[in-house]
Amino acid sequence: MKAMRKRHSLLDAIIDAVFSRPDTVAYPFGELQLPEGYRGAIVINPENCTGCGLCVRDCPTGALKLEKKSRDEFKLIHYPARCAYCSQCESSCVRGAIGHSNALVGATDRPRELIVVLKDKKEGED
Ligand code: SF4
Ligand code: SF4
Repeated sequence: MKAMRKRHSLLDAIIDAVFSRPDTVAYPFGELQLPEGYRGAIVINPENCTGCGLCVRDCPTGALKLEKKSRDEFKLIHYPARCAYCSQCESSCVRGAIGHSNALVGATDRPRELIVVLKDKKEGED
């Protein structure tokens, strides 16, 4: 007795795959649309940052550093290559100054050179 042909055979699946559009994005050539809430690059609202260091204290990977010269002079630095994009800094900051953007963090073959100065506050500045 002749076997019944299945509606979705392997051949059908292969033909579908060959002629349908890919579900993935051809990054960096295609337009990348990241979903809302994507934990992308760390950004800061400098006006809200007081240099309290709570985000640095709670960062589990040491991806944040606070260089404090005085109460009025500090630098908050982010090291993207160390960052786990866990969002702890955002949770720790009581002033809502630090958090994720929706932007993809670029790749590099020199991760140690990836340094982002989030805030560089000089004396007398806000
Ligand atoms: S980002 Fe927030 S937690 Fe971090 S130093 Fe600034 S104010 Fe403090
Ligand atoms: S997202 Fe996580 S790992 Fe990255 S800087 Fe914030 S607390 Fe640190």
